[in-house]
Amino acid sequence: MILLTPEDILDRFRRAGALLEGHFRLTSGLHSPGYLQCALVLQHPAEAEAYGAAIAERTRALWAQVVLSPALGGIVIGQEVGRALGIRAIFAERQDGALTLRRGFELARGEKVLVVEDVVTTGGSTRETIEVARAAGADVVGAAAIVDRSGGQQKLDVPFHALVQVSLPAHLPESCPLCLAGLPVVKPGSRSV
Ligand SMILES: [Zn+2]
Repeated sequence: MILLTPEDILDRFRRAGALLEGHFRLTSGLHSPGYLQCALVLQHPAEAEAYGAAIAERTRALWAQVVLSPALGGIVIGQEVGRALGIRAIFAERQDGALTLRRGFELARGEKVLVVEDVVTTGGSTRETIEVARAAGADVVGAAAIVDRSGGQQKLDVPFHALVQVSLPAHLPESCPLCLAGLPVVKPGSRSV
């Protein structure tokens, strides 16, 4: 079994261009010293498999019977956690704005659910996914993510495991310390980084 340390993960993210460090203008208009795009690392199936195995190691003792992920971001890693735990992996998706189980996916009453996402930012989509499982009568035994960028603010009422914590503050442009330092701001994904 390969144990991935937080440093290993950040190195892998940097190499895949999934974690950029500099001075970025986010789609929200806020400025940040970092930009995270998990899909860029999960596009490599071997990477996704390694993170899935690492999350499985940390959550095996919860004895989950099914992985539930929010679409789209959670699907790839949810699949890999399900593979590593030997349990099925299903996803919830938005319909008319609300996260819901579709495609004939079902949870049995009392079935033990592990909620898996790629990144937890505020915890909002994780909480919403937990509610989908509970509404179906299932028992949510825990939640997990590759990256926790909530700064400990995710406030979940189930055990939560993340492989790495990443602190990426967001600043209003007028009070951005990087702007004040005179660093040019770039849009994430532009190749000038
Ligand atoms: Zn700035």
